[in-house]
Amino acid sequence: PDVPAGSILAGAAKRYGDRTAFTHHDRSLTYAQTYAAACRFANALRARGIGPGATVAIHLPNCLAYPVAYYGILLAGATFTPANPLLPPADLAHQLADSGAVAVVTLGKVAPVVTAVRAQTAVELVVVVAPDDPAGLAEGQVEFQAFADGQPDTRPDLDIDTRTHLAHLAYTGGTTGRSKGVRLPHRNVVVNTLQYACWGTGSLPALDDDGDLTLDQVGSPDEWPTRLGTGSGINLTPWFHAMGTIGGLNVPVMGGGSTTLHDRFDPVAYLADAERLRVTSIGGAPALFAALLASPDLATRDLSSVRGISSGAAPLPHEMLKALAARFPDAVITEGYGLTEVTMGATINPAFRSGLRKQGSVGVPVFDTEVKIVPLEGGEDPVPEGEQGEVCIRGPQVMAGYHNRPDETAAVLVDGWLHTGDIGVLDKDGYLSIVDRKKDMLLYKGYNVYPRELEELLIAHPGVAAAAVVGRKQTDVGELPVAFVVRADENVTEAEILSAVNDNVLPYKRIRELRFVDEIPVSAAGKILKRELRQRL
Ligand code: ATP
Repeated sequence: PDVPAGSILAGAAKRYGDRTAFTHHDRSLTYAQTYAAACRFANALRARGIGPGATVAIHLPNCLAYPVAYYGILLAGATFTPANPLLPPADLAHQLADSGAVAVVTLGKVAPVVTAVRAQTAVELVVVVAPDDPAGLAEGQVEFQAFADGQPDTRPDLDIDTRTHLAHLAYTGGTTGRSKGVRLPHRNVVVNTLQYACWGTGSLPALDDDGDLTLDQVGSPDEWPTRLGTGSGINLTPWFHAMGTIGGLNVPVMGGGSTTLHDRFDPVAYLADAERLRVTSIGGAPALFAALLASPDLATRDLSSVRGISSGAAPLPHEMLKALAARFPDAVITEGYGLTEVTMGATINPAFRSGLRKQGSVGVPVFDTEVKIVPLEGGEDPVPEGEQGEVCIRGPQVMAGYHNRPDETAAVLVDGWLHTGDIGVLDKDGYLSIVDRKKDMLLYKGYNVYPRELEELLIAHPGVAAAAVVGRKQTDVGELPVAFVVRADENVTEAEILSAVNDNVLPYKRIRELRFVDEIPVSAAGKILKRELRQRL
């Protein structure tokens, strides 16, 4: 539907008005309250001359102010740029300057970083949630509640072209290099939300009498156990990341879900709340599932309410999938695949009970989306079925381009096809499996070595809690695989682990060095930071 992204909350507020949308500590917001507050925020922005054409950054951890500011920015017609509140000053300065943000919504605790870099940016207005000293705010700073006080709670007029007008200017995770701005029009956000909300709930999109988005549920709840409509979940996925903004915010809002926020991940508190709240779905990156599976409380808590488990952002190892399936035999487990450049996602396993889920596959393309595999050496013609190559995606959720980087845009967008930099393979039924990232692949004497294959074998060893493989350069041969391993059992030896892997792979793939470490560094979105591991070598 040709509607602006703010319509996702507007439609939900009418449909689920009194239902609790968000809970954080002892405070909650219903759908109607969230929408009214977002409208006041939008009007406050407009009153400052901030609307279509202006960019506003949110530099907050997940909290109740986040959806108010986020939908407020969209309803005002401004562009949202999400910033990790823990970004080092130089990276925050880069994003604020590159995006051209004129306003920032930040938290008292991290506001000094914004103040420190402000002179390098175009920021004129800083809205502070929970300032340390509300009476002592500096010039250009205003407290979050006071900012929107007295504003009308009806949405401002908005006349935009949803195909070109930017809703999000998202920055790539920076897992592999300098973070780039990804241009995502309103239509991308609406489409990608629907692609997952409809697929997850057995629904079709529809418009209500005011032309706002709504869902018509068509599938039966028995067939679609993951139906979000009456669902509840605990949110840990940061909303500043694509998986958080779409999968963790817009999709539950579209389905009228109730989301409880946890500040930090504590498996004991998570599992206690999951039992108390009778959560229906659990979603997150594999790092979340690894920690849950390692917790003794997983066996003792009553989690019979869980009907859907969804993983994304990084590969879900087979061993983990098997363990989850054993613990939650009645839940549908899905894995989605995507990247910031496709708003959030491009594929997902079937979420209906009778759908075929193939182990190790990230499923099939969501509707209106095509996936093809092209040769790694280059060229646009697909490789034969079953052969590996670079994953390319075409669909309405594909970005409009990188911000201010025409050359890099031209390098990845060819005739509407996004070249993802991921290596994958399609099977005869059109199911996609991700092999590895092109940038993480190692070349040993001209042979391709995929760290992920070695990581799967490492994690399958009972003495291994977590593992990552990167390459060490050696001029005569190329790159040698080196494993970083976190032990699950202090008595397990290097030789035991190495033989479990090396006896099961071709000689050129063998791990040449193993280092025991206390933890594997992961990003806020739950991705292994291989760049950091390579630096250690
Ligand atoms: P940068 O591109 O700046 O290095 P990033 O890759 O972390 O940052 P994101 O858009 O957050 O940026 O991550 C997308 C990548 O995450 C994908 O290209 C893919 O490599 C990986 N990924 C996402 N979902 C899955 C999945 N289900 N299985 C395997 N890999 C996945």
